[in-house]
Amino acid sequence: MSDLDQKIVAMDVWRLSLPVLSRRDHGVGVVEGDCEVVILRLTAEGGEEGFGEASPRSVCSGTPEATYAALNRYLRPHILGRRVADREAIMADALYAVAHCTEAKAALESALLDLEGRILGRPVWSLLGEKARDMIPLSVSLANPDFDQDVALLDRLRSDGVGIVKLNTGFADHAFDLMRLERLRGDYAEFAVRVDFNQGLSVDEAPARVSDIDGFAPDFIEQPVRAHEYETMAALRAMPTQPLLADESVFGPEDMQRALSEVICDGVSVKIMKSGGLTRGRRIAQMAAKASMPAYGGDMIEAGLAHLAGVHMIAATPEIGLGCEFYQATYYLKEDILETPFPVKGGDVLVPDAPGLGIRPDLAKLDHYAVERTNA
Ligand code: MG
Repeated sequence: MSDLDQKIVAMDVWRLSLPVLSRRDHGVGVVEGDCEVVILRLTAEGGEEGFGEASPRSVCSGTPEATYAALNRYLRPHILGRRVADREAIMADALYAVAHCTEAKAALESALLDLEGRILGRPVWSLLGEKARDMIPLSVSLANPDFDQDVALLDRLRSDGVGIVKLNTGFADHAFDLMRLERLRGDYAEFAVRVDFNQGLSVDEAPARVSDIDGFAPDFIEQPVRAHEYETMAALRAMPTQPLLADESVFGPEDMQRALSEVICDGVSVKIMKSGGLTRGRRIAQMAAKASMPAYGGDMIEAGLAHLAGVHMIAATPEIGLGCEFYQATYYLKEDILETPFPVKGGDVLVPDAPGLGIRPDLAKLDHYAVERTNA
């Protein structure tokens, strides 16, 4: 029996409530108090374990309750008893075993890859492709309705060597966005600035507000209107402004195909929680690159385990060239769940070369923050 012929014999699921440092407002939805993530552990016959994280956002992708049910009820029959070598077949079954629930599918593929990598003694990126980079530039998002707190964060980022910030706009009035951009360009001129509306603008107000924001020459302007407003996205993209990025308008490769044919964007945010896994996320970036569109590695409100899955995807995907926003483990959670800190140094995320995802979650922390768990 080859090592990967081992069967998957156990599957544990934790739903966690993780305290956060501050309130964060977005064009759609507020995060305050805590963020909820779901952790999956798969165990092979030989005792090796693989972990994955699902990080749903109820206003964007899905709920923690649906994620928990998707794993425990609808995906479990497609996982237990299968061979570790059946990863691609398991993911093909998962795609249609339950509709949507892309975060659960991302956690599943992460755990399968982590398990396979640990059994083979290889990092996850090497199971996906060639290593394109050792470090990924980190972008940290500013979304605090109390801008003084974000100014304090900016000072910390400056001393840490972080070079990119993303301003979340469109959750308050236009003057608040312009004031913050003026402060950024005046007092923090060394930072590259990106702008993300998180679907916050109406179709009518979007052109004028996007045009004003463009006066500050951000690197890109992301998702001004609701995900389904393709026509408006195409009209905004046709304006002579900085590149327009699609985020919530593009979940999976199917959306990317439509985004390309309707020319709604100049680039795309790839998130494994939207695409339903690392492999489908890579495919989006590859499709974008064929149309000469850049991509960056976005995220939800995540813990370090989901960040790691994203890091391995980007490491093996040269088409994702705009860096990543895996900052919550370092700058937003009161405490992350990994055994050792998520690897950030001098404004870059470091790609792990250890087997699997490279770092395991701390089981004591999973139990400490669990609001629900299933063992089987
Ligand atoms: Mg976004």
